[in-house]
Amino acid sequence: MSNINGKWQQENTYDAIVIGSGISGGIAAKELSEKGLKTLVLERGRMVKHIEDYPTMNMAPWDLPNRGRVSQDEIDKHYQKQNRTGYTVQQGHKHWFVKDDEHPYTEVKRFDWMRGYHVGGRSIMWGRQSYRHSDLDFQANVKEGIGVDWPIRYADIAPGTIILRSSLASVAPMKGWRNCPTASSSPPWK
Ligand SMILES: Cc1cc2nc3c(=O)[nH]c(=O)nc-3n(C[C@H](O)[C@H](O)[C@H](O)COP(=O)(O)OP(=O)(O)OC[C@H]3O[C@@H](n4cnc5c(N)ncnc54)[C@H](O)[C@@H]3O)c2cc1C
Repeated sequence: MSNINGKWQQENTYDAIVIGSGISGGIAAKELSEKGLKTLVLERGRMVKHIEDYPTMNMAPWDLPNRGRVSQDEIDKHYQKQNRTGYTVQQGHKHWFVKDDEHPYTEVKRFDWMRGYHVGGRSIMWGRQSYRHSDLDFQANVKEGIGVDWPIRYADIAPGTIILRSSLASVAPMKGWRNCPTASSSPPWK
């Protein structure tokens, strides 16, 4: 009798369940749990341990096979779609990408679905280029007489984007672009 866990239902009941631990799920889980909700994150991919699971992080191109390039044979076999941008799949980080032959999908029209299945999702793979919106983004179409006016303005979402940007440590481009204000959290690209 002592092995029976009478609290199993309570212990396995959550206020929120987040599916996927990428940028969307990760930020949702962070916000929900910081607000005090008991939150469960379900992730289909493997666990990623910080530092330990970055085996190539301190390697120079000459430490890697083919100076970091992946052979055309390997691309054709495993990464035809993942490598469509031409720069994504390299020796130093190909292990973050799914293999297309193991995770195929059908395209009616070309659809580039580069992705990885692991804790953190594409937050581990992305380039951290994230352009901040400005008022122009929500008014440009009206000024040019195109489409329907947005029901919101940049000011309505600004507080949320500032929280997001500092959580992601994303970077903005050059300073001084009127339509793309510099992020408050990280220095701009040079
Ligand atoms: C190489 C590369 C560079 C990029 N550079 C930029 C950039 O510079 N700027 C920019 O703005 N964007 C960039 N992006 C795009 C950006 O990274 C993605 O749009 C963003 O990370 C997507 O976040 P997400 O949470 O929606 O999805 P993901 O990060 O893909 O997260 C989805 C998560 O859900 C998990 N999952 C999927 N199915 C299930 C399931 N059934 N059950 C449980 N878990 C599941 C996955 O394993 C994954 O962890 C880049 C993308 C790539 C691939």
